[in-house]
Amino acid sequence: MSRVHFDVLVVGGGPVGWACALAARQGLGATARVGVLERSALPPEAPTDAPPAARVYTVAVGNLRALAEAGVRIRGERAADVTAMRVFGRDGALALDVSADDGGDDILARVIEHDALTHAIARAAMAQGVTLRIGVATELHDGEGAARKLVELDDRTLLDARVVLIADGAGSTLRAAAGLDARHHAYPQCGVVANFALREAHRGTAHQWFLADGSILALLPLPEVRGEPAVSMVWSCPPTQAQALCAMSDAALVAAVRAASADALSLCAVVGGARSFPLQLLRLPDPVGARVLAVGDAAHAMHPLAGQGVNVGLADARTLRDLWRDDAPRVGGDAGHPLLLGRYRRQRYAPTVAMQLATDGLFRLYNATEHPLLMAAGDAGMRLFGQLPAFRRMLLSAAMQ
Ligand SMILES: Cc1cc2nc3c(=O)[nH]c(=O)nc-3n(C[C@H](O)[C@H](O)[C@H](O)COP(=O)(O)OP(=O)(O)OC[C@H]3O[C@@H](n4cnc5c(N)ncnc54)[C@H](O)[C@@H]3O)c2cc1C
Repeated sequence: MSRVHFDVLVVGGGPVGWACALAARQGLGATARVGVLERSALPPEAPTDAPPAARVYTVAVGNLRALAEAGVRIRGERAADVTAMRVFGRDGALALDVSADDGGDDILARVIEHDALTHAIARAAMAQGVTLRIGVATELHDGEGAARKLVELDDRTLLDARVVLIADGAGSTLRAAAGLDARHHAYPQCGVVANFALREAHRGTAHQWFLADGSILALLPLPEVRGEPAVSMVWSCPPTQAQALCAMSDAALVAAVRAASADALSLCAVVGGARSFPLQLLRLPDPVGARVLAVGDAAHAMHPLAGQGVNVGLADARTLRDLWRDDAPRVGGDAGHPLLLGRYRRQRYAPTVAMQLATDGLFRLYNATEHPLLMAAGDAGMRLFGQLPAFRRMLLSAAMQ
């Protein structure tokens, strides 16, 4: 049976998988053979006036810049700028107020639909020669001479690559096939997402409330929907509450979100339905194996309270691009050389653990509803830290990474 050979084969065509494939073309050059294996075809692009889908990401400025430099063009009508962020503690008082001006930039981040982001990166990657193969990866095997890895598809086809990037998401099946150990911790919360139209403009401000019951509500700016300002909601709450929110009538959902957000944003209608996602912390003691590397949520899923999941994955891609560009020529252009994978492991360990510790620590501090001292510490600590220039700088650099 004839085999297709790649330098880099990415399994999983989510935003991170495509960003890594693009990074391979950028870092290794136009002669590198780079492929993405994805189980479903890319959905057609949404028409210009279609309302935004419920799943959106806040993509930080540093990642936006890197994507733009790599030729990714995000459709303006499917994204909205975030210029300020306001966070409220359990007592309802403003605990943090950060603006892009504090970091000397025009924006903190952009809110972009999942499909629009994935499409834009995929389009740029394919225009630069990355190939897409539709199929389901089921197994990994060592290639001949240990210098290659084989990916087996459900139709028994074998694809062969110098390095296989496992980017098949938090529920990855290929991770275990690669022998990579994963530690899962399910949060006692689901993330409920829905979009709302507003009576008044959101002025590019993202809002977040750490509520008294331990749930966390975020309302993020969206582009206008049929001429009306709009926001995207992520409400992290216990599964029973998530189920109830998803089953509510539109009027009841609007009322529930208005009540929880102290009516700060004049919500007036639901745009599309609500959906719920289970939330988990997923950590890999080591994302690197023999000629395999886990990236994105397959390597480090986290609580969405800081909106950093996809950003950490896009940072994985930036690191790979730099390693392939600067160090691959020293190892004969071998994209999966152990020296490169070892460097990747060292460079990504600290920033990934730091972001997971920060989001998990914040979740625990604010979810301690049974412990009055910790509850008070959460609100007071956030306000106190919010005044410290060093903490504000740290927050800004995370938002802008
Ligand atoms: C409620 C919620 C809100 C969030 N909000 C934000 C936010 O505001 N900002 C942010 O940065 N992050 C956010 N996140 C996190 C974000 O969703 C993830 O970090 C992001 O989707 C990870 O992208 P990925 O490409 O690694 O994986 P995924 O998006 O999960 O993509 C994996 C891909 O692999 C494919 N696949 C799976 N198995 C196979 C196989 N065997 N063979 C071939 N293909 C396969 C799938 O079809 C899929 O396309 C949020 C998450 C949740 C749950």
